[in-house]
Formats: sequence, structure tokens, C-alpha cells
Amino acid sequence: TWRQWTWSWPATAGAHTLRVRATDALPLFEETWYSIGGGFIRREGDPMVPPTTSPRPMDYDSSAELLALCDARGVDIAAIARENEESIHGAEALDAGLDAIWDAMHVCVEAGLATAGTLPGGLKVKRRAAAIRMQLEEYELLPLRERDTSTEWLHAFALAVNEENASGGRVVTAPTNGAAGIIPAVGHYYLRFVPGANAEGIRRYLLTAAAIGSLVKANASISGAEGGCQAEVGSACAMASGALCAVLGGTPRQVENAAEIAMEHHLGLTCDPVGGLVQVPCIERNAIASSTAVSAARLALHGDGTHLVSLDTVIETMRQTGLDMMTKYKETSEGGLAVNVIEC
Ligand code: SF4
Repeated sequence: TWRQWTWSWPATAGAHTLRVRATDALPLFEETWYSIGGGFIRREGDPMVPPTTSPRPMDYDSSAELLALCDARGVDIAAIARENEESIHGAEALDAGLDAIWDAMHVCVEAGLATAGTLPGGLKVKRRAAAIRMQLEEYELLPLRERDTSTEWLHAFALAVNEENASGGRVVTAPTNGAAGIIPAVGHYYLRFVPGANAEGIRRYLLTAAAIGSLVKANASISGAEGGCQAEVGSACAMASGALCAVLGGTPRQVENAAEIAMEHHLGLTCDPVGGLVQVPCIERNAIASSTAVSAARLALHGDGTHLVSLDTVIETMRQTGLDMMTKYKETSEGGLAVNVIEC
């Protein structure tokens, strides 16, 4: 008889042993897996398989090249990403894939908003998304409302995803599990609070985010174990911010500016999860970074896309900062909050 286990991967990089036992004394099955960063895992003994890449019709290695392609073809960043993806999957499968990704993000947000309780792992962290949702829904029933609740909803969406992640629920790795809340949260903000938002906008949102994420992954890192939290939450924030800017009507240069602003203000951010669990500071950090993503997008929309620090420069700065960062701040739980917060 098969049973399905949901297993929450610890935050800390390194070897983790998976044991399946009939009783506590008798392991039936045991394997060692390595968390190699960026959301990837590998089984001990499996060969290193280098990623295969096929030529892309729209080839770019930097945001400068990406913007040049947009200029030359008179299209936006999502169209460039679409052309590359369609060359692999075809148009129909690409749209189906994008919709499936969004559906998974949406189901995750809904699950998180509906689930109260305490997260597993021993830190006794309370889930907050469901309570915030109830408070907001009650507030919105009041005949006289004085405050704009869009930012509070944005926070609740992000908390919902990261609480699901911390309890072994299903999330979309975007670009990693620890930073999985930001892109769904900002996408839900778009659908709920931006007039005229629609499903096609969400496809453009995801494609733009993917193009920005691919630049970060190729030229720096999206892995907390390699670059600290700037590489995880900073990258997710840049992806969401540029993507939101695009669906709010931003030009490619404004999109590039939004992603740059979002990344710039995460430079140097360390990874120091308490107890090796992706809970503190990770869950709340996703909520705050979602706000940053929206702010950066709106700030960029007030400019014309010209700015001093380019996205390429900030990505390279993030890479160098990650190299200089001490190992104890890179997903090892040996520094920062991880050693200053007493676990009980
Ligand atoms: S601190 Fe940041 S990088 Fe580290 S596990 Fe948490 S979300 Fe990921």
C-alpha cells in the first residue's frame, strides 16, 4: 500500500537524509539528497548533468541586449520572451503552461488564505494570512471605509503562499520556494486592484518576470546558498516589479528601471533562517518585498526609463556582493537572526 508524504525541505544547504520507515527502528528506504541552491536538489551519486540549452530566436545575455531587441522589433519584453518560449513549446502549449502556472499560484494563495493554525517545525510560528483575510473582509463590509486595503491584501497574498510553503503545501518555485510568495502576491494585486486587469495580462506578467529572472540566473544567482537572500527575495522582487510595471503599461525601459530599483534595495540582504526553517524571516520578508515590488513599479512609471544604475549593473553588483558575503549568511543558519533568536 502506498501512502503519500508531504515533506518540507529544510532551508539550509547541504546534505539531508530522507528515511522511510515502517517503525522508528526499521528504515525501509534511505537516500541522501543535497540541496544545491536555487530550489534545486540532487540525489547522492547521481551524475552532474549540465543543463542543455537550445538556440533561442531572440538571443540576449544582458538587459541592454534585451532592450535593444525590443527597440529593433518594436515590441515589449513579454513578446521577446514569448517568441523564445514558443520556439520550444509552441503557442498553444505555452499559453496552457502559463495558465497552469498561474492556476497553481492562485490555488496556493487561496489555500493559504483559508488555513489558520501553527506552522510545523517547532518555532510555533502562527499562520497570519487567514486572519488578515477575515479582518479585511469584515472591514470591507463597513458602510464607511476610510482606508485603502490594497497593500494589506498584497501582504496577505504573500503570507498565504509562504505559509503554504512552510507547511509543505504546493507552491510554484518562483524563482525559489523561499521567495515563492512575491510573484503570486503582486499578480493577485494586479488582478484585484488594477482596472482592466485580465488573464492575458497575467500571461504577459509571467513572461516578463521570466525574462528578468533569466537575466539574474544567467549573470548572477537566484540561490540563497550562493548569494544570500538578495539573490532569492531580491530576484523575485525584481521579477515581480518589472512584470507589474509592464502590465501597468510601462515601456521596456521603465520595466528595466522597475526591476533595477527592486533589486538595488535588496543588495547585501543576508539569508539567516531561524532554525533552518523557511519561516522567520522568510515569510514576512516576502510580504515586505511584495510592497517594494509595487512601489518600484509605480516609481519607475513616473520616469521615462532613463536612470543611472542599469539592471545589468545591479545584477553584477549582486553577484559580487554574494561572493563577498560570509558563508554564515548564505543559507547555513550560522549567522544573523538564526543565531540571535532563541528557539524554544
Ligand atoms: S532568508 Fe531569504 S534566502 Fe534565506 S531561506 Fe529565507 S527567503 Fe530564502
